[in-house]
Amino acid sequence: HERIERLIEEKTPFFSLEFFPPRFVNGVPNFLERVERLSEGGSVFVDMTWHMGSDPANIDKVTSSSSIAASMLDYCGVDTMLHMTCVQYNKADTLKHLEQAKAMGLRSILALRGDLPPGVCCGIVSNSFFIFMFQTELEDTNQFRALDMIRWIREEYGDYFSIGCAGYPLGHPQAPSYKADLQYLKAKCDAGANFVITQLFFEPETFEKFVADCREIGITKPIIPGIMPIMGYESIKRIAKLSQLEIPEHILEDLEPIKHDDDAVQKYGTERCIEMCRRLLDNGSAPSIHLYTMNREGSIREILKALGLWKLEGDRVFPWKNRSQHPIRC
Ligand code: FAD
Repeated sequence: HERIERLIEEKTPFFSLEFFPPRFVNGVPNFLERVERLSEGGSVFVDMTWHMGSDPANIDKVTSSSSIAASMLDYCGVDTMLHMTCVQYNKADTLKHLEQAKAMGLRSILALRGDLPPGVCCGIVSNSFFIFMFQTELEDTNQFRALDMIRWIREEYGDYFSIGCAGYPLGHPQAPSYKADLQYLKAKCDAGANFVITQLFFEPETFEKFVADCREIGITKPIIPGIMPIMGYESIKRIAKLSQLEIPEHILEDLEPIKHDDDAVQKYGTERCIEMCRRLLDNGSAPSIHLYTMNREGSIREILKALGLWKLEGDRVFPWKNRSQHPIRC
């Protein structure tokens, strides 16, 4: 978070990239190479989503996100933030996950509640564009929130971890109101979150208003827009549904005549994304761009190059770390 703050102070726009764990262990080498190639452009950090069951062959399913995050840090040499949810665990479990992350050399956590309808545990398992929900019975249900996790981290670990938290430009679907949601976000920041990463959104105005509203109620922490380029017609509809977001009518109208042409949809999504990011960076509402990569390479690189955020060899914002400095050798 110190790097982020410094870059913001220097008014240097930057980017970060989100990945999800490869589904099977034999996909890991290819995955890490992809992360390595994409971080070469100067990603200030990468992050790994938290999933249960990302590898059905793995008995300790929860550790798969942690160990992939540690591999990204160790092999790709790029600062890695691990997402971590708490609603489906108790405090002791969450502290165990944090201890494990610490032992693996991770210093950044995106502290999340996670999704949990009463009595069931929901997760998203992703493989390229294949996303589905699964449900399992829960042994131990509780109602911990991201705010609790942020407090636990600060109580137990002081400043050891940088903490990110989630923000919702249109309000979280379960929030009593948009205003209450903003106040709750402020509580997360006041409890020790260092920065906010937002849920995806479709219109630049949505983010601009959100930032202005956050600043008005005294949220001073960096607010980084989470950007998901439209990469496929069915996939964006599925993601919007899972996130309980509505795709604006004019975007659906644009997509309608090209929806069976994957290349045309991707081209449209890339162009829209570039246009939106350029506006947010140019008008100063966004200090940086956080791209939901869906583990894909092509359009991500194109977007970053078009925005002038992709650094050339020797022109990286930060030099890579010396791998041997990392405590874990995988
Ligand atoms: P919280 O911030 O704890 O709360 C969620 C909402 O509940 C709040 O926004 C607020 O509206 C409401 N709320 C709670 N308490 C109060 C209160 N006292 N007053 C008013 N409102 C209240 N899920 C995963 O499973 N794995 C991931 O890796 C993952 N990564 C994500 C990354 C980002 C950037 C985002 C935006 C979401 C991610 N999610 C992930 C989804 C996330 O887990 C869900 O959106 C979940 O429903 C909420 O998590 P949270 O941390 O925002 O919850």
